Amino acid sequence: MIPVNKSTDRREVVDSPADGFFAQEFLSDECRLLDRYELQKELVETLEQTKNHRHLVPRVAACHHTFRHWRCDQNHDWAEAEHSCSVRVCPHDSRRRSLILAGRMEKFLFGMTGLRYVVFAERNTLDLREGVRLLWESWTSLRRSVRWKKYVRGCIVAMEVTYNREEGTWHPHLNVLMEGEYFPFEELNQAWIAATEGRGQTSFIRAADVGTVRELIKYVTKISDLMGKPEALDEFLSAVFRRRLVRTYGTFYGLPVDDEENPGIVCPDCQSRTVVRLGYVPSYQISLDEKGILRADRPPWVTDSELREATQFNFYECSRQPAA
Ligand SMILES: [Zn+2]
Ligand SMILES: [Zn+2]
Repeated sequence: MIPVNKSTDRREVVDSPADGFFAQEFLSDECRLLDRYELQKELVETLEQTKNHRHLVPRVAACHHTFRHWRCDQNHDWAEAEHSCSVRVCPHDSRRRSLILAGRMEKFLFGMTGLRYVVFAERNTLDLREGVRLLWESWTSLRRSVRWKKYVRGCIVAMEVTYNREEGTWHPHLNVLMEGEYFPFEELNQAWIAATEGRGQTSFIRAADVGTVRELIKYVTKISDLMGKPEALDEFLSAVFRRRLVRTYGTFYGLPVDDEENPGIVCPDCQSRTVVRLGYVPSYQISLDEKGILRADRPPWVTDSELREATQFNFYECSRQPAA
């Protein structure tokens, strides 16, 4: 648990969601696994109606349909999908991405104090690409400001986009976890307004804890908002194509995020990257544990012989994963 820094600023929310909230969230994960497959079907149907992203249909349709058993050098076992589509809005991939990034961040942030969570937003926009461009431009200008440099030693920023289905407008914003000196809210707000040339609004600032980490990288967009809206889906996928949506600065630079679009295979229990790929896992041998990790429940005599065979060669070091 990351210590929560108390503050006298009345705008800060020092009460953090209780651990029980997250435990409960993971308990209902079993049901949500089915929801993800429903959502995947809707995504495929919406992609079929798009103008520019129809080519993604076979990839998304095949995503998370076959699984492999993996083991790390510390003997942890889990299951991974054999084919991941790595499309930003795929419900399976977004969840995998946020689990892996949250695991890394929790390890990195352990023992760190004085963390603050801030949301930087601009006005809603009809043109997402332009809105995203302006937002990052303002962000760069904020980071270069004297006030920012005075208070902030490091941060991680994740872009999130919400879509208003009724109005057809986009709301791109930046979720930021920062570390440093206490930054008074009014001063931060003024700095953001200046950086955005008046378009900006800071939604809130509050003390941060482990729960905040999950909130920060939970999803790039709420996938269900784009279902049945092929034009909006087209616009979203084009606007985020090959864009780095998670970035680190200063003291957070050692936290690897470059692979955030499609993180490599890493042990979900100990973060080891020395992992070995075992056999295929039929769906009846797959279960979700209380941490939300897919487990392969396979008979040991099958696993043992596969492991003997696999380790005749070396453990497979995943090359896509940057050094932790
Ligand atoms: Zn996928
Ligand atoms: Zn492990």
